[in-house]
Amino acid sequence: MQYISTRNNGEKVSFSRAVVNGLASGGGLYVPETIPTISKEELEGMYEETYVERAVKVLSKFMTDFSKEEIEGICEKAYSKFYGDVAPVVKISDELFIMELFHGPTMAFKDVALTFLPYALTTAMKKCEVKEEVVILVATSGDTGKAALEGFKNVDGTKIIVFYPSEGVSDVQKLQMTSQEGSNVCVVGVDGNFDNCQTGVKNIFGDEAFVAECLKNGSILSSANSINFGRLLPQIVYYFSSYADLVQSGEIKAGDKIHFSVPTGNFGDILAGYYAKQMGLPVDMLICASNENNVLTDFFKTGEYDLSREFFKTMSPSMDILISSNLERLLYEISGRDDKLTVARMESLKKTGKYSITDEEFKILEASFYGDYCSEEETAEMIADFFEECDYPLDPHTAVGVFVSDLYRGETEDETPVVSLSTASPYKFLEDVMKCLGVKTSADIFKNAKEFHELSGVELPVPFENLRGATARFKEVIKKDKMKASVKGFVSK
Ligand SMILES: *Cc1c(COP(=O)(O)O)cnc(C)c1O
Repeated sequence: MQYISTRNNGEKVSFSRAVVNGLASGGGLYVPETIPTISKEELEGMYEETYVERAVKVLSKFMTDFSKEEIEGICEKAYSKFYGDVAPVVKISDELFIMELFHGPTMAFKDVALTFLPYALTTAMKKCEVKEEVVILVATSGDTGKAALEGFKNVDGTKIIVFYPSEGVSDVQKLQMTSQEGSNVCVVGVDGNFDNCQTGVKNIFGDEAFVAECLKNGSILSSANSINFGRLLPQIVYYFSSYADLVQSGEIKAGDKIHFSVPTGNFGDILAGYYAKQMGLPVDMLICASNENNVLTDFFKTGEYDLSREFFKTMSPSMDILISSNLERLLYEISGRDDKLTVARMESLKKTGKYSITDEEFKILEASFYGDYCSEEETAEMIADFFEECDYPLDPHTAVGVFVSDLYRGETEDETPVVSLSTASPYKFLEDVMKCLGVKTSADIFKNAKEFHELSGVELPVPFENLRGATARFKEVIKKDKMKASVKGFVSK
């Protein structure tokens, strides 16, 4: 299986090369040349399998230049870093299930992909005979940064630099990142929001002279954001896994359709769900849940993507995003894989801040996606009500997902079961969660954690415990036009 660029159907590379490069030339995103399918028998075989076995089955279809043993080895190493199951499904009612994706080393769903990526990348580097050092550039809204740092710390042949919005992340997120250990890591705060960080990183990738200069000096720049297909890929697995679990526990019958509700920012997670559906998983609707930064809601309701709007800082900061990079991959699919049209739309977004899709494309979208959003006030109410009624503490991102799945059900009276993805542990956004539950917080996060534990009965996660005694090692905050200089300094170190 080869990989092609959303902006040039003629650019073909292996899976390994796509992972090493991160971004295709001209700013395009790599996608598989064809989307592979899973047969009914293969799906049925998954019901009794472990997470790693299910992963190997799905991933082998995409990683065709890796052996089955290699894929298995990578998954085993990656998922042994989890505390318990990778993607356990919790039953709330006959119609609502929560898939907990936060039992990894950094307490957010990004661990599922970022424990996997470093092993996949280093194997890919060997296959491509890459002699240079790979320098990973990351823009983060809070969770990717820490997960990528943990994944890549002290990995031979790699270095990683992370840019985060200095005032746009939670206290726990900030401490997690600035206290990062490892000899090949760097963490930089940016005086701006996530979009500024992401645009800065994309501009560095797009700066051909700079990229060439780095290469000459022995460094390949690559990405651990979900623009890298190797980052997106492992996320497809848990859609299959949750489905298999529901059949296995008798909650649904084999072949029944289900919906997924996904708290969305950069559109990576939900796009993985779309790929799962295209592969043959019985998925009916993908519910795209946004916070007040609801550019995607408007897109799914009108077919127009329009950036001209206010940017809000919310209590679900990992979704405070206006430019959802992975939407490009969806646009490419619904346009019938028209690379020229995709280029034109991305140009239009850059120049005019908007683009729209055709009626025909809109019909394709409507058949698989429903989009809506949850305000800050509604998020707070959702967290409080859900805790009172279901005795389950939602983190703010997950609350947005559950709220929007309720909206969908209210609007359609559809009783198909929904699996709502829980993307972070409530411990990661403790202060806001406690405020929503009407509990006083102190400046001491461990005191808060103890109180939250007593209130909720949810065990303190090991990674939270590990923050005890952590101090900030990286204190630098830069202006947003200084990112390239930071990379330059870091690469030459
Ligand atoms: C990254 C993140 C999201 C959004 O996921 P995308 O793939 O960017 O759409 C949602 N919730 C949490 C907790 C996250 O870290």
